[in-house]
Amino acid sequence: MKETIIKALTQTKLILFTALFLVLFDNYAFFHNVLEVYPFNFSNSGFLISLAVVLFAVTSLLLTLVSSKYTLKPIIILILIVSSMTNYFMNSYKVVIDDTMIRNMMQTDMAETLDLISIKQVLYFIFLGLLPAFLVYKSKIEYGSFKKEMFAKIVTVFGALALVLLSVFIFSKHYTSFFREHKPLRYSTNPPYWIYSTGKYINKTFNSGPIIVKPLGEDAKIEGDANETKKLVIFVVGEAARADHFSLNGYERETNPRLSKEDIINFSNVFSCGTSTAESVPCMFSPFERDEYSYKKGITHENILDVLAHTDDIAVLWRDNNSDSKGMALRVPYENYKSNKLNTICTEDGECRDIGMLIGLDDFIEKNKDKNMFIVLHQMGNHGPAYYKRYPKEFEKYTPVCETNQLEECTQEEIKNAYDNALLYTDFFLSKTISFLKQYDKDYKTAMFYMSDHGESLGEGGVYLHGLPYFMAPDAQTHIGAFMWFGEQMKQDVNMEKIEAVKEQKFTQDNLFHSMLGIFKVKTEAYDKDLDVFNGKH
Ligand SMILES: [Zn+2]
Repeated sequence: MKETIIKALTQTKLILFTALFLVLFDNYAFFHNVLEVYPFNFSNSGFLISLAVVLFAVTSLLLTLVSSKYTLKPIIILILIVSSMTNYFMNSYKVVIDDTMIRNMMQTDMAETLDLISIKQVLYFIFLGLLPAFLVYKSKIEYGSFKKEMFAKIVTVFGALALVLLSVFIFSKHYTSFFREHKPLRYSTNPPYWIYSTGKYINKTFNSGPIIVKPLGEDAKIEGDANETKKLVIFVVGEAARADHFSLNGYERETNPRLSKEDIINFSNVFSCGTSTAESVPCMFSPFERDEYSYKKGITHENILDVLAHTDDIAVLWRDNNSDSKGMALRVPYENYKSNKLNTICTEDGECRDIGMLIGLDDFIEKNKDKNMFIVLHQMGNHGPAYYKRYPKEFEKYTPVCETNQLEECTQEEIKNAYDNALLYTDFFLSKTISFLKQYDKDYKTAMFYMSDHGESLGEGGVYLHGLPYFMAPDAQTHIGAFMWFGEQMKQDVNMEKIEAVKEQKFTQDNLFHSMLGIFKVKTEAYDKDLDVFNGKH
C-alpha cells in the first residue's frame, strides 16, 4: 500500500490548517482594501494583525460548526474551490460576491461564463483550489470517540470566540470604525462573506414557498376611441451602456453618429434600479420603486407587460439576444434570438447580433395589424468583459482594442476602445430600429424607447464590469443611456413640449412602468400619474 501524502490529522487540525491557508492565500483583496483605510503604521499595526487573527478565528468557527465525520472533507473541498474563484474575481475585477451577484451567476448562461474564463483564472483554480483540495482529499483523518470529538469541537468554538472577543476588546476603537464606517471592507472577507451571501440568496430564493404571482392591473383599459390609429412601440433594453460614453451626453468621442442625425429626445440624467441585469431588468418593468423593490416582490407580481396585455388590445412580444427576460416575459410571447435557430445574423463562433432581432418582425406586425403593439428587444449590447466580440470588424473605429477577457491585462485605453466600438454598433442597431419603424409611420403611431439596464465600470479605480452593491457603486454603473424617438403621428399624441422641457431632469427606471401606461393611455388602478414622464408634474 502506498503511504498517504499527509500524516494522519485530527479534524481540528485540518480545520485550522484550512483556515490558515484561506487567510493567507485567498484574502488578498480583503487586506488590500483594509490597508487603504488603515495604512500600516505603528498605531494600526496591532489592529491589522488582530484582523487576520479574527478572520482566522471566524473561518475556523464556521468550519467547526459544519464539521462531522462525513461532511468535513466535502465541505472543505467545496470551500477551497469556490474561494479560489471568489479570490480571482475579487482581485481581478474588484467585484463583491453578494446575494445579487450570486443570482447573476446563477442566471448567466454558459456563453457568458465562457467569456469570463481566462488563463489566470485557471491558475487560481489549480493552485488555490484544486491542489489544496486534492491534498485534503488524500489526507488521512483520525477520528476519536464521539466524546473526544465533541470536546475538541467545543474547545475550538470557544477558543475562536475568545480570540474574536479579545481582539475586539483590545482594539475596540478600531473595530467600531471597522464595523460602522467601513462596512464594505467585510464584503471582501473570503470565505465568510460569500458563505453568508449564499445563505442569503438561498433564503430569498427558495424559502418563499410556492411562487404565486399576484395579478396586477386587471382593470386595465385603453381610454379613447377604438377606431383611433393603433400604436406600434418598440422598447429596447440596452446592456451595460453607461451614459457618459454617449456622445449624445457630451462624450468627446462620436459614439452616436447615426442617432445624432435622428430626431431623438435624449434623456441625459437617467439612473438604473440596480447594477446588474438580474436586478435591473425585473425592477424596471415592475410597478415598484427602487427602494421598495426586492427579488421576491419582482417574481410574485405581474409587470408592465402583463398590464398592457390585460387591456386585450395590446399585442406584446419579447425578443431576447441577451440572456433571458429575467422572468418578465413568462406570460407573454417570448422569442430567443441568441442562437441561429431564429437569429439569422450570427458569427461562426456563435455570437448573434442585435440587428438580427429586427428580421421577421414584420410578420408579427402583420399578424397583429389591428391591434396596438408593444415589442421589447433585449440587446446583447455592451456585455463584458469581451467587448471586442460585441461588434463586427467594420465597427472597430477605436484601436488598439483589448482582445482578451482578462481586462486587467489590457490598458484602460484598450478596454475603453473596445467598449466604445461596441457602443458604435449599438448606435447602428438603434438607428436601424428607428428606420424599421419609419416604414410603419403612415399606418401607425410609432415610437421607440431605449434604456440601458445598468452602466459599466471600465477600470476607474481598479473597478471593472458591474454589480457592486448599489450604495457603493460609482455613477459609471448606475448612470445609464436613455432616449426616445417618436414617429410623425405619435408626435401629435404626446406633449412634445413637455418632454423637451424635462429631458435633462433626473429620472430613474421607476418611471418606466407608469410612462408606458401613459404612452398607451391605459387606465388602471396600477397607474401613478406622478411617475409618468409624459403626464407627471416634474
Ligand atoms: Zn446587464
